[in-house]
Amino acid sequence: MDSLQKLIDLDRRHVWHPYAAMPNPLPVFPVRSAKGVRIELEDGRSLIDGISSWWTCIHGYNHPQLNTAAHAQIEQMSHVMFGGLTHRPGVQLASKLIEITPAELQHVFFSDSGSVAVEVAMKMAVQYWQSKGQTEKNRFLTIRNGYHGDTFAAMSACDPINGMHHLFSGMLMPQYFADAPQVRFGEDWQEADIASFASLLKENSDHIASAIFEPVVQNAGGVRFYHPEYVRRASELCKQYDVLLILDEIATGFGRTGKLFACEYADISPDIMCLGKALSGGFISLAATLTTTHISQTFSEGEAGVFMHGPTFMGNPLACAVALANLELLESYDWSMKIKKIEAQLRLELASCQALSAVKDVRVLGAIAAVELHDPVNMSIVQPQFVERGVWLRPFGRLLYTMPPYIIQPEELSAITSAIYEVAAKL
Ligand SMILES: *Cc1c(COP(=O)(O)O)cnc(C)c1O
Repeated sequence: MDSLQKLIDLDRRHVWHPYAAMPNPLPVFPVRSAKGVRIELEDGRSLIDGISSWWTCIHGYNHPQLNTAAHAQIEQMSHVMFGGLTHRPGVQLASKLIEITPAELQHVFFSDSGSVAVEVAMKMAVQYWQSKGQTEKNRFLTIRNGYHGDTFAAMSACDPINGMHHLFSGMLMPQYFADAPQVRFGEDWQEADIASFASLLKENSDHIASAIFEPVVQNAGGVRFYHPEYVRRASELCKQYDVLLILDEIATGFGRTGKLFACEYADISPDIMCLGKALSGGFISLAATLTTTHISQTFSEGEAGVFMHGPTFMGNPLACAVALANLELLESYDWSMKIKKIEAQLRLELASCQALSAVKDVRVLGAIAAVELHDPVNMSIVQPQFVERGVWLRPFGRLLYTMPPYIIQPEELSAITSAIYEVAAKL
């Protein structure tokens, strides 16, 4: 690979990027390395990362403790199959996850990505009712504006309109979609907000295996922060109508919203919880689906007698070892205080965006901030404008947003908020 231009040309012609056309007309920026909050481009420029590589890299890149854990594990083995074998990193990580999540969650199913963790959760819910002889309970209740991944079961629970998944509607399981919550986080709760969810449950609970949604923050579906009482009421209603509850904490987990898990705002425990993204600190792909003893035991009473899922790379020891180190790192400092400081700074510095004519709304929760515009952004114009300002952000739809690494310093965060203001001001 000689010149940088050749690399970019080959990339454009042959390599698919997320949600991209082929050949890819949008700019891509070759990266040489990354360390801390900085991404170093091949052309020598250095960018402050404002979205933690899609919300994963909470402790920054190239973290010495994660690297040490990875090196140590590679010396032992980077992979062995999980069928019939087990290993310390897998068992230790599972124990750690059980310790830090709600007490009812006692059993961990590892997989390689968030979408698969969601598939596993949905299959668990269906197989649970099957094992109890209630095969007609095989559909899902979700809420609009959600995002749960790009595989088929996960897609069926994504927002039917803004997810673009209506393109595949003929192949997707039809699910029940409650109105998206309108009462925002921090506003006064209004019982009317849960009415649509409640009536869908009431009318269709005979056909619903489980509800599934992202607690408190709908991320990829629009970075919307909603009232925890919605989550608490939904959980109550699920119990009342004998429907399971899956919480997708793939984006909200591990402190991002200000609580370790967003369900803590509602003080509830789901029947099934999906984790991913920040689980390995952005080091390597890993996800997990947790469930209760009640659900796990039910599988053994059914026809299969076992839970019918088992990915080839399940419980990959390298990923588990790094994830364990990442969670130990998270426990080693006052992350909650750090998130509070990031939140306060984001509120203070982004408030001025509200006055801009292109801006519809500014909102902040934990280490998440969104500046919502009136019109969709043109990525091929906006992305280079951020790069010119030395920051890495990846707007989508009508949103300029940031979810920085927790280790970000105040002056680095200011560089991000100024860039957002300047770019929004030019629109
Ligand atoms: C990112 C995300 C997923 C999908 O995870 P992948 O690792 O991209 O498959 C599912 N649910 C939520 C809430 C997410 O943010």
